Amino acid sequence: NFRCRSAFKLLQIDDKFRLLQPGSSVVDCGAAPGAWSQVAVQRVNSAGTDQDLPRGTVIGIDLLNIPPLDGAHFLSSHDVTDPATHAKLRELLPQGEAHIILSDMAPNASGFRDMDHERLITMCLSLIDLAEKILLPGGSLLCKYWDGVFSHQLQEKLSSVFSSVRTIKPQASRMDSAEKYFLARMYRKPFK
Ligand code: SAM
Repeated sequence: NFRCRSAFKLLQIDDKFRLLQPGSSVVDCGAAPGAWSQVAVQRVNSAGTDQDLPRGTVIGIDLLNIPPLDGAHFLSSHDVTDPATHAKLRELLPQGEAHIILSDMAPNASGFRDMDHERLITMCLSLIDLAEKILLPGGSLLCKYWDGVFSHQLQEKLSSVFSSVRTIKPQASRMDSAEKYFLARMYRKPFK
């Protein structure tokens, strides 16, 4: 039983692209109520359910409270865009690094489509800063966005640090016309 229907979007995406491997470290941004984290826990084996497979790590973050889940470590009342959260993640992740960053984050919709679009794109851009701090070279980022005029800017920024960037429209989200995902793979850590 999943906490929320959004689980099916991640399941569909992961069935196709096989992002979540046993043993992987995952950061789930905007994780409440925790359905994506439930999927991640199963697929990376972070609860150690299959003793023959490597045990992964799942860390979920949300401004809201996330009810506890076996196999996941949750940072409730945390802002993903806050550098203090990034520092905490580095402490919690094995070797301070993640294989995958997931983001199903969304701002509270104002109802003004352009404004909501721009706010979510800004949040997605902050994930690129997070990636620079925690994402392993070769790692992946999956992020939800609402399509609009700034989508292209986000795609270009992603393309500057990931070798492969594609747009995904999961079947499970077909009812929401503006909702899409970018799947960015093969992270290339920028030299600083
Ligand atoms: N993927 C989740 C699941 O399957 O249960 C559903 C996520 S829900 C669509 C979006 C979440 O993003 C909300 O819970 C919201 O509080 C969170 N969020 C929005 N802005 C955030 C931020 N700056 N930092 C952390 N979480 C944020």
